[in-house]
Amino acid sequence: MSPIIPIKQAASVGCTDVSPLVQRGQREVFCGLTGIIWLHRKIQDAFFLVVGSRTCAHLIQSAAGVMIFAEPRFATAIIDERDLAGLADVNDELDKVVNQLLERRPEIKLLFLVGSCPSEVIKLDLSRAASRLSAQYASSVRVLNYSGSGIETTFTQGEDACLASMVPTLPSQGADAAPDLLVVGTLADVVEDQFIRVFNQMGIERVRFFPPRSADDQAAIGPNTRLLLAQPFLGDTLRMLQAKGAQLLAAPFPLGIEGTTAWFQAAAKAFGVTPERFEAAVAAPTARATASLARAKTHLAGKSIFFFPDSQLEIPLARFLSRELGMRLLEVGTPYLHRQVMAMELAMLPGDTFLSEGQDVEKQLDRCRAQSPDLVVCGLGLANPLESEGMTTKWAIELVFTPIQGYDQAGDLAELFTRPLVRRMRLAA
Ligand code: SF4
Repeated sequence: MSPIIPIKQAASVGCTDVSPLVQRGQREVFCGLTGIIWLHRKIQDAFFLVVGSRTCAHLIQSAAGVMIFAEPRFATAIIDERDLAGLADVNDELDKVVNQLLERRPEIKLLFLVGSCPSEVIKLDLSRAASRLSAQYASSVRVLNYSGSGIETTFTQGEDACLASMVPTLPSQGADAAPDLLVVGTLADVVEDQFIRVFNQMGIERVRFFPPRSADDQAAIGPNTRLLLAQPFLGDTLRMLQAKGAQLLAAPFPLGIEGTTAWFQAAAKAFGVTPERFEAAVAAPTARATASLARAKTHLAGKSIFFFPDSQLEIPLARFLSRELGMRLLEVGTPYLHRQVMAMELAMLPGDTFLSEGQDVEKQLDRCRAQSPDLVVCGLGLANPLESEGMTTKWAIELVFTPIQGYDQAGDLAELFTRPLVRRMRLAA
């Protein structure tokens, strides 16, 4: 039997009514341009043109260093001093760059103009540029725009802004359309393939993923669209899909066995799958995942963990680590708390979890030091200083780059947390 959580019971407990500590001070986060690294791998005929500075170009290049050997599907159009001083028409320059790019790369079907801090400082209207270029290339390329600017964002918001920019271009469903399922949020192809297999075994055949692998694969949206969020940082995209009539299925996120089972269960309930058929579809992957978590549990049970706010995955990860691996949660920081999206996750967290929203980094560092956690999950900027103080850290960004969703990745996800602890133990031996 699979360990299906009693969702009704879980919904009445946990941290549902807990008010987090809200702090709005200095923050240590990456900007939304970072999302390009996983988005360009997902939508295979899209290109991301950052309109930004050399700093933006360096960020993208160093985050995606491996791409040096391939024909990259992202680049930066550098805004230089002449542009900043108003000595050149930036729109003309941008059109020139886009024309050259599309001439050289005819396989591009979807071009994103990605705004940055510099493009926002000079008030470059990228939505007008996108409309102008879309009209010019109407027959062959769609041109969209969104902001990856670092002002007031976290790095995963880049994906939200990107997907939200695509929603208005999705067709509307016909009134008599059969119900279908849209899984929202970038997943590795291997994870999507596993999910499709489980949905099909349950008898759910009409499943689409957003973003799609190909720009032309545009799901129609309407009242018969049921949404399952695969990532927790997609509040704007969700709002826009709901405005087109789509209905969100309440579920936790597919991390760990419990989260994945409850996530599939939400779809099963919406599509009238019988309990027997559901059990049959999830039994084998659940058994594999249970076996793969056993070893990690010996390293993690009883260990304490402190989350700085970074990826917006903190709450689902904390739920997985505490409930399935026995870790002790000292503080679970999240950049933003979206109560609708997190409702099921909050209900499953231990009721005494210390939640914080936003950041005042010095105060949070003091809280962290005072509690001496066994493991700290944080951004790259904090990891090295904390390691030098003797703490063991895990980069939050690695959890976004790595396939961690679903049954067959549960062991790999746990392993991401055991590895730094084991490394520290070896160094100390
Ligand atoms: S968008 Fe802003 S924060 Fe991001 S790399 Fe460019 S200048 Fe830096």
